[in-house]
Amino acid sequence: MGKCSISEKKKRNNPVSSSGSDYVGSIRRTDIENTEHYMLYQRSSALFTEAKKYIPGGVNSPVRAFKAVGGDPIFVKEAKGAYLYDEDGNQLIDYIASWGPLILGHAHEPVINAVIEKAKKGTSFGMPTEIETELAQLAVSMVPNIDKIRFVNSGTEACMSAVRLARGYTGKDKIIKFAGCYHGHSDSFLIQAGSGAVTFGSPNSPGVTQGTAKDTLLANYNDLEGVKALAEANKGEIAAIILEPVAGNMGCIIPTDEFIYGLRELCTQEGILLLFDEVMTGFRLGKGGAQEALGIDADIVMFGKVIGGGLPVGAFAARAEIMSHLAPEGPVYQAGTLSGNPLAMSAGLAMLTELNNKPEVFASLAQKTEYLHKGIAKVLTEKGVTHQINRYGSMISVHFCEDPVVDFASSAKGNNDTFKKYFHGMLEQGVYLPPSAFESYFLNDALSYTDLDKTIEAVKTIF
Ligand SMILES: *Cc1c(COP(=O)(O)O)cnc(C)c1O
Repeated sequence: MGKCSISEKKKRNNPVSSSGSDYVGSIRRTDIENTEHYMLYQRSSALFTEAKKYIPGGVNSPVRAFKAVGGDPIFVKEAKGAYLYDEDGNQLIDYIASWGPLILGHAHEPVINAVIEKAKKGTSFGMPTEIETELAQLAVSMVPNIDKIRFVNSGTEACMSAVRLARGYTGKDKIIKFAGCYHGHSDSFLIQAGSGAVTFGSPNSPGVTQGTAKDTLLANYNDLEGVKALAEANKGEIAAIILEPVAGNMGCIIPTDEFIYGLRELCTQEGILLLFDEVMTGFRLGKGGAQEALGIDADIVMFGKVIGGGLPVGAFAARAEIMSHLAPEGPVYQAGTLSGNPLAMSAGLAMLTELNNKPEVFASLAQKTEYLHKGIAKVLTEKGVTHQINRYGSMISVHFCEDPVVDFASSAKGNNDTFKKYFHGMLEQGVYLPPSAFESYFLNDALSYTDLDKTIEAVKTIF
């Protein structure tokens, strides 16, 4: 790992050497040669124009469209290890790794081989297969405090189903979620703060009904008192408190001990289920995810991203007593034609097997992330750029603001003009960061220290 195994690709780092003509796209070679680090996005832009004719906004998930940073998105042709190769032949160091799943790097051989072998035997049956039990057994053995797991096709589905299970189990309707935490795009989660300070949420997307919104209560991350007030005002009505145990969708935000242990205590006292959305943190912060890292037991845990090894998998898990409420064992309905799909299971099984056999990868990732943190912080400090950097394990985010970033409001204070300059500046130098200030980077273990050094150097060049 750590090296791109396809040597001819290295040449493509420099688009000039990859073609015999005087022109690359519509730009004359000599112009390119005169511009150090010049990179081309002509073909990506053309593909985006074409995509917009047939796909709303040209993308199948909004963040990909670069709305927050401006410019056209980059179309990927292929990827290997830590590097993306785009449709224009540029090589990019990737800090997203498909938003988390590819923790060991792109096209990781054990995962790819498992999928190829499985595909030859048929891609879907709608009948039970042994590999579902294999992945379930492995996941249950790695994660503390869960007995059973149900596989779905996305993190959205996992969170949506977990909330239904929590409601069915407790016989209560309301949930508390935190501003800035993302749990997928199902209606109950597309809620923003209402008008009053401690009141119901309101829809933050057309199409979400007031009826749905009234059952989701909004609190602020790291604000235990606010949660207690909501629980008091809605006593006996709250089924679940759902959160990202380490948040990654408003930058990387670390829970205070007071907050996270306080939530556990409150939930136990009030008969509320504590739902950990570990779609991002699961199998990333360690074998046992945030539960293990923080030393805290949740009641239902949701997974996605890494558990599918790059194929569409989500899952939710809990103690047997809670999971027994799920159909067909119990009355809470949940289903999926492609759930437990053999290709997806084979990718997930290969990925978790790798992580289970080489748990030192988590420490290696955390070290790399710390190295990156220190390197970037040093440069920004030397250059006098106001910033905050948050990091936990292999999640990290850089915020261009003065005050510590502890919740959605403090994250939103970041200077977006500086962020745009930073994002595009890095991109020009071949470093692909999340195209939004609200996203965490996800390091993958294929990243070498040379890649990290290049990244830190790139920051220096921008400011
Ligand atoms: C990505 C993400 C989701 C949604 O997962 P999808 O597979 O995109 O539906 C849910 N929760 C968290 C914390 C996530 O990061």
